[in-house]
Amino acid sequence: MLPYGRQSIDERDIEAVVAALRSDWLTTGPLVDRFEKDLAEHVGGVAGAVAVTSGTAALHTAYAAAGVGPGDVVVTTPLTFVATASTAMQLGARIVFADVEEASGNLDLAAAEAAVEPGTKVIAAVDYAGVPVDAAAFTSMAHKNGALLLEDAAHSIGSLRDGVPVGRLADVTAFSFFPTKNMTTAEGGAVVSPDSGLLQRARAFKAHGVVRDAALLRRSDVGPWYHEVQTLGLNYRLPDVLAALGIAQLSRLNEFAARRAAICSRYAEALADVEGIVLPEDPPGTVPMRHLYPIRVEVARRRQIFERLREDGIGVQVNYIPAYFHPLFEDLGYRRGLCPVAEEFSAREISLPLFPDLTDAQVDEVAEAVRRAVAA
Ligand SMILES: *Cc1c(COP(=O)(O)O)cnc(C)c1O
Repeated sequence: MLPYGRQSIDERDIEAVVAALRSDWLTTGPLVDRFEKDLAEHVGGVAGAVAVTSGTAALHTAYAAAGVGPGDVVVTTPLTFVATASTAMQLGARIVFADVEEASGNLDLAAAEAAVEPGTKVIAAVDYAGVPVDAAAFTSMAHKNGALLLEDAAHSIGSLRDGVPVGRLADVTAFSFFPTKNMTTAEGGAVVSPDSGLLQRARAFKAHGVVRDAALLRRSDVGPWYHEVQTLGLNYRLPDVLAALGIAQLSRLNEFAARRAAICSRYAEALADVEGIVLPEDPPGTVPMRHLYPIRVEVARRRQIFERLREDGIGVQVNYIPAYFHPLFEDLGYRRGLCPVAEEFSAREISLPLFPDLTDAQVDEVAEAVRRAVAA
């Protein structure tokens, strides 16, 4: 089965990981520092980066660093992986889902603003499929309402909005480095922000809430061993072995972006004349590094087309089941019909294979299979 996404690993990646295994450090060491520095440089204009063990950990850490706690409200999109919402719930927040734009599947600005309630701490927008949200507009809306913008950029490292790289656009941005994403550390993620205070809280949260910086300690002159646990935290430390892979992958990001763009153009050309499907488009002002190639078919035909593609060995996916369809939310009283645009998008959506090592011949094969399945 041709997967919908997979990692691209070459000899440079392998050598980097082997060198880390031969070094003195397995877990957090100099390569984590280097990876965080490289990542902050790639984004530019941020106070730094905090590497963590997954995109889920990055979201959890970002919400914690933004001060999300019991009684707070987080407004977000239902067209996402459940972690965008569930990590805020872990901190005691209540989730309010707002609808998406029909064309991009991204959170709709007006719908998000209409969903804001007293106690809204964060607006969490997802760059669906790799298309960056209009973070400038979301940030000013969030600030006007006393909230922060968290950009869930699990799909979109390498993308640009108005020429600015994703990561520099929001109050806080969370990346995922899962193997199917735009670059990988096997499991991994990171938080970036222009706010050094927020990053400091993120750094404490990912490592048990431990503080070692003398200037921040409550008691001084205790001894060189002294440190303090000042807040609740977890162990979300990315190991050096995986940071080594991250450094190598980040250096290949432009190469990955070019290949993903070429594949998307090839799909767009090969599928342009197929009736009954809607192809993804890049909104004005965006240069997406696409994580997904989401096509939309008629609702009534989606299952049949999906199953035919799977029978043809094409590992298509649906991204996503609306988050509140999951029993976790159903049991809390969330009802279907809440966000009709997202529900319709989800009911029509099929993600085609998209990853750098996909060959032109495989792209053509997928396009032919789509043509056959839609015509059947
Ligand atoms: C992948 C993903 C996550 C979670 O990332 P992991 O690294 O798998 O924990 C969060 N949000 C979105 C939108 C994702 O696609």
